[in-house]
Amino acid sequence: MTAPTRTERGLHQEQRAQVAALHGELVRYALVTWTAGNVSERVPGEDLFVIKGSGVSYDGLSWEGITVCDLDGTVVDGVRRPSSDTAAHAYVYRHLPAVNGVVHTHSPYATAWSARGEAIPCVLTAMADEFGGPIPVGPFALIGDDSIGQGIVATLAGQRSPAVLMRNHGVFTIGDSARSAVKAAVMCEDVARTVHLARQLGEPLPIAQADIDSLYERYQNVYGQR
Ligand SMILES: [Zn+2]
Repeated sequence: MTAPTRTERGLHQEQRAQVAALHGELVRYALVTWTAGNVSERVPGEDLFVIKGSGVSYDGLSWEGITVCDLDGTVVDGVRRPSSDTAAHAYVYRHLPAVNGVVHTHSPYATAWSARGEAIPCVLTAMADEFGGPIPVGPFALIGDDSIGQGIVATLAGQRSPAVLMRNHGVFTIGDSARSAVKAAVMCEDVARTVHLARQLGEPLPIAQADIDSLYERYQNVYGQR
């Protein structure tokens, strides 16, 4: 043990600046309140990830508000203590090698579904596109050890959805980059709100599984600029 655990060398400063900027999207889409919520991203080719500091304000968030951790959640570089959700992010990176980005929010509509322990049914084409089915509910888990991470990984196993509603808590999303995990968090809140509104007026109509499959396939493989 020779290396210091906390330095001010500015390791991976460029990636930390990018991840700091992505936090602005959580504010822009009203997914977070005060300092709650966080974005992390795996450092390519290294057993490290970068994550927002604990209790750090979104105002003027710069690379210095982002801390570098190893995959056990131990600080490698940074002037801020990492997010209290670091153990959950680290668990996801250790167990899902294809995941390069993780986002956590308490966005209000999605979190309201989580408070009822109810999965969001796939009743919108936009939801079939992005999530390929319902957005599932994960177990109730206390912060502080691997419980939240285990719940995320176990719930998302075998699901298309990149989002999970952790019961009585909020949203965790995964992606092949921090940006795609942020997009999933934005879309999760959007569909949570729309399906909630539909529920106020009656029972939303289901979409046939074959149509969900077809929409998901097209959106994931054909949609957008190639
Ligand atoms: Zn939380």
